[in-house]
Amino acid sequence: MAEHKKKPASSIPSDLPSPKHPPAAGSGETHEFLSRETLDALSTLQLLDMIVAKLPPRHPSLLDFVYLRERITGIEEMNFEAQRAIEKLDAIVEKLRSPAFRVGTFLMPIQPDTAHVCVSGTDYVCRLDPQVPLSGLQVGQRVLCNEAFVIVQGLGFDRSGPIVRIDELLSDGRLRIGQESGLSQLVIQRSQLLSKEKLKPGLEIRLDANQRIALEVVGVSRRTERSLEKVSSLPWQSIGGQDEAVQAIRDTIELPFLHRDLFRRFQHTVPKGFLLYGPPGCGKTLLGKATAFNLRQQILKETGQDHPEFFLHVKGPEILNMWVGESERQVRDLFAQCRERASEGALAFLFIDEAESILGTRRAGRYQSILSTLVPMFCTEMDGIEPLRNVVIILASNRADLIDPAILRPGRIDRKIRVRRPDQAGAQKIYEIYLTESLPLEEKPQELAAAVAEAQFARKEENAFLEVSYRSGKRDLLYRADLASGAIISAVVERAKSIAIRRSIDTARETSINRDDLLLALKLEYDENDLFPTTDVTEDWMKLTDFDPDNVIRLGPVRPRRANKPGSGIV
Ligand code: ADP
Repeated sequence: MAEHKKKPASSIPSDLPSPKHPPAAGSGETHEFLSRETLDALSTLQLLDMIVAKLPPRHPSLLDFVYLRERITGIEEMNFEAQRAIEKLDAIVEKLRSPAFRVGTFLMPIQPDTAHVCVSGTDYVCRLDPQVPLSGLQVGQRVLCNEAFVIVQGLGFDRSGPIVRIDELLSDGRLRIGQESGLSQLVIQRSQLLSKEKLKPGLEIRLDANQRIALEVVGVSRRTERSLEKVSSLPWQSIGGQDEAVQAIRDTIELPFLHRDLFRRFQHTVPKGFLLYGPPGCGKTLLGKATAFNLRQQILKETGQDHPEFFLHVKGPEILNMWVGESERQVRDLFAQCRERASEGALAFLFIDEAESILGTRRAGRYQSILSTLVPMFCTEMDGIEPLRNVVIILASNRADLIDPAILRPGRIDRKIRVRRPDQAGAQKIYEIYLTESLPLEEKPQELAAAVAEAQFARKEENAFLEVSYRSGKRDLLYRADLASGAIISAVVERAKSIAIRRSIDTARETSINRDDLLLALKLEYDENDLFPTTDVTEDWMKLTDFDPDNVIRLGPVRPRRANKPGSGIV
């Protein structure tokens, strides 16, 4: 259509006879006959003008021709406008029909006119439009490629993309990253933006859409927020009434670490850690930390080498995260951190409290799908740890029976160490640990400790604490002694201090901790200790005991619990 672009011609071509001086009819002038091509080249108006020029002057049809000419002029102008509109539409249709440009990631220049580009996960060596200078393109930025995969324009950097964590820095600056949901790992390069950035393992970075280039640091991953606990001085003697457990830990961990060569020579299997199980507040965490402290001291003493301890304390439920893949990522991260620190010479401890929540048997429930991936993953991570390579895993649980047997297989965590509630002698020892000589005491520490332990363990009515109804119809009473723990004992001593301080303030005299303070503190502590549930719900109380839930239909306080705890703070 585009070839009919003649503007309506209102004048006559100069080679034609002028209509103003047409040859007169019958004047004897010879009529020129124009060729067909010349006629074809004329517009309608020109033809008309030529015809009019041939008419004799004052011909009766002249006026009609003038009118006809106006009509033709109007039509030709309309045609001209219509053609212009059609041409415009044509151009638009052409644009709409042309294929989309592709967006790729610029990986690196190859030659002055070619570059390595990744488009939708596939690599191409693309030519460059001469208008686009190669020197203006930066590694990692997006480029527009036309149908022939020629780079026709440089765009900015991707604004969105997956976030991953750096696992390792390779010597040439490239980065190894852990695939969050998949199994494989990737090595990626840095974009020009990050070429000089100081990066380190653990940082979270954003990748381009093709997952080939690290574009920006988006933050420090959660690993630094995790509770990294400082292990204070904790000699074994600072733990009371747990001699059996302490001995078991020392045999399990200290012996192989201190006599590595002997264990290797006899090819004796060495555990990668152990499980501490028992009721809450009885010292599992304390034993874990004491293991770290004492192992460091022992190794220092025996070998002269000091390996500072790195104690990662994690609560199982904290790992259960609602984001798909996040829990797995955290577990992998915990192991990675321990390995990293161990390779730097530290003695790394991974202490997982309430372990049954993440390593429980894959029973049905809300977290079933997470557990079914966490347990095998934990096993794989554990299998990747070489024994005696300065990484020790300690699990703690109130419900060891719920932990998946796969975790507790030989070569993994095959030592189960029971942490019992203290008996009277054990309780007395713990009281002695907290009632130190340096405190103002009215009697010798041993005497006070013996007195309060005896009061706590007496099986008399005022000590009756819980009532249990068995399925068989039998009923029983549990006494304070049956729920004694190191945590309660240390809290009793703290409360007795508060009572003595209050007395000192009230009487304006120097006072010391006496038996009555301890006995009052004991009573209040059982009424109010945070370890005990504030409700009468059987299930809550069951968690504190070893009862088989199938055999018990009710377990609750002898006296209903008070909703408002009176006497908190200084009594
Ligand atoms: P668990 O981990 O078994 O729930 P913890 O180790 O956290 O218990 O104990 C809580 C606190 O109770 C400890 O910080 C410590 O003050 C005290 N405690 C518990 N058991 C003992 C113990 N056997 N000897 C001395 N203190 C203890």
